[in-house]
Amino acid sequence: MERLIEGHKKFLAEVFPRRRNQFHLLAESQAPEWLFITCSDSRIVPDLILGTEPGDLFISRSIGNIVPVSMSDVDGVTATIEYAVDVLKVKHVILCGHSDCGALKAALDRPKLEKLPKASRWLHHVEAAFSHRQPLNPEDGAHAELASLIRGNVVAQLLNLRAQPSVARAMMEGRLAVHGWYYEILSGRIERFDEDARRFVALVEE
Ligand code: ZN
Repeated sequence: MERLIEGHKKFLAEVFPRRRNQFHLLAESQAPEWLFITCSDSRIVPDLILGTEPGDLFISRSIGNIVPVSMSDVDGVTATIEYAVDVLKVKHVILCGHSDCGALKAALDRPKLEKLPKASRWLHHVEAAFSHRQPLNPEDGAHAELASLIRGNVVAQLLNLRAQPSVARAMMEGRLAVHGWYYEILSGRIERFDEDARRFVALVEE
């Protein structure tokens, strides 16, 4: 814990004073333009890879960047989506998977989940990834099979996202766009799912 407390001391001493006006403006309201749905993985740091600031991204995180559709009871992800779309009126929802995702590794090796009843049930939502597997990419090397499944999971969860009533309604009204991304930790690069071409392409052209 010491490292976190030291970090917070540094924030109070060095960062906050420089940004006092920014936090003053944010203290009583937020108007984020983007809902960012991603994995809980510690290696995904949205503000770092996107150059965003406090107040910019409304974020929902869970293992496997899942958007459940079949759960009858409420869950944190869909409640967050509803709030972001209907109350905050975000203009974009970005669903971002990532390389080396443990959730998809577990889906490939389900016996490892036997002693994890909650994670096991939650990760049933990634099964749909298998039917949306993307073509193997030689650039993924030894991880090509896993990466194709992770990209497939982005496509599957994107479909679930579009099926959320608040999302479907906002898209119909022309005030919301949805995006599927794949972030590669090794290179730092992001790919986006091109809905017309039905494949992943670089977010930033070389
Ligand atoms: Zn992950």
